[in-house]
Amino acid sequence: MSRYSALALLRGALTGQKHWDRAWRDPEPKASYDVIVIGGGGHGLSTAYYLAKVHGIRNVAVLEKGWIGGGNTGRNTTIVRSNYRQPALHNFFDFALGLWEGMSDELNFNVMFSPRGAMFLGHSDSDMTSLAQRGDALRCAGIDAELLTRAQVQKLVPLLDMSPAARFPIYGGMIQRRGGTARHDAVAWGYARAADALGVDVIQNCEVTGLTIAGGRVAGVETTRGAIGAGRVGICVAGNSGPVAALAGIKLPIEAQTLQAFVTEPVKPMIDTVIMSQSLHCYISQSDKGGIVLGGDPDQFPSYAQRGLPNRLEKAAAEAIALVPALSRLRMVRCWSGTTDMSFDGSPIISTLPVDGLYLNGGWCYGGFKATPGSGFAYAQLLATGAPHPLAAPFGLDRFARGATVDEAGVGPMPQLR
Ligand SMILES: Cc1cc2nc3c(=O)[nH]c(=O)nc-3n(C[C@H](O)[C@H](O)[C@H](O)COP(=O)(O)OP(=O)(O)OC[C@H]3O[C@@H](n4cnc5c(N)ncnc54)[C@H](O)[C@@H]3O)c2cc1C
Repeated sequence: MSRYSALALLRGALTGQKHWDRAWRDPEPKASYDVIVIGGGGHGLSTAYYLAKVHGIRNVAVLEKGWIGGGNTGRNTTIVRSNYRQPALHNFFDFALGLWEGMSDELNFNVMFSPRGAMFLGHSDSDMTSLAQRGDALRCAGIDAELLTRAQVQKLVPLLDMSPAARFPIYGGMIQRRGGTARHDAVAWGYARAADALGVDVIQNCEVTGLTIAGGRVAGVETTRGAIGAGRVGICVAGNSGPVAALAGIKLPIEAQTLQAFVTEPVKPMIDTVIMSQSLHCYISQSDKGGIVLGGDPDQFPSYAQRGLPNRLEKAAAEAIALVPALSRLRMVRCWSGTTDMSFDGSPIISTLPVDGLYLNGGWCYGGFKATPGSGFAYAQLLATGAPHPLAAPFGLDRFARGATVDEAGVGPMPQLR
């Protein structure tokens, strides 16, 4: 793999851009691999990269039923932050944030990580108390969090409706300045290219349709391109965790729900910070292309439809306009959805499964993009050694049997209602 650099760009400019290598190969599946990762999203690809890079396991395949990054990785609103409430979560997500900060250099691929700040707005005294408590917990863990006054919020985003008559009055906020956004496709492409360079086979259009289990141990997978043997198999399929685990007869405490995102026509820079609301679950940011990206609630009933309800669009748009009235002048150009895998405590599962050699990475709810590098790093360690990374130890599947759930109140509204 040739390195991307300013010099290579210049050479390309002077020679008609003809010298670029393929970013990754398009290999035929081999008869068997040491490790198969099912799912070519950011998490699956980063897992394969760290398996090869950190653990020296290079006889690895990532099997993707469609195209890499075509799942939730390419459908999310790209918010990256580590300001969660529970220590298990903020420590884990902050480890991931550290990897985001160096990702473009590490992968030699510009993932456009943009630490523009991730700000929660407080709309009441109780919102502000909760934000202050969360900020205190974060600072005790050495993670940046600043409580903001109304005036500070207004200075950061002058277009917010700060009037006393506002539908959602703004009392203040909390910002994590190291948080922000990243280019979602680039994350999948960057990990795929770097993993491929280390010998990993990234195989697209290859759906896993069965798991081969012999004597209580996984031996391989059935796919639309034939059977492939494997020493270990890692499931990493986001919204499809339930159906894929069911191939091994395992029922997970995960429910699939549809979550949508929306984008307006592009405009000049008007919102420099990611805005989220503590009580509304409405989130707004401006993409580097200029579109205003909006997200809201999931449909809140189980579905694999990948087609969300119009009332969610209406709610997200109404809330965004109430917060930033100037948005009412923009045309919405696109909406799309993804199937999220909602765990019942709002926290991820990075775990062994009751079949030897079979592992699960899932249950990321609507917040797993920000975990991508940390998730891959930790899952690679579990797949390579059989033991969890210390930061991922609280996220074993057995927590639901032990009553040791990680109930997160900082992910969005009311995961406990599911
Ligand atoms: C609308 C929306 C907005 C979101 N916003 C944010 C946000 O702002 N910030 C944040 O942190 N998170 C956000 N999320 C959540 C985030 O997108 C996900 O948690 C994360 O991208 C999951 O990554 P992944 O690699 O696990 O899954 P995916 O990217 O979905 O990858 C899984 C892959 O597995 C493949 N697959 C499935 N079944 C099989 C099979 N049988 N065989 C082979 N391949 C299979 C799929 O095709 C898919 O490509 C959002 C999600 C949605 C839907």
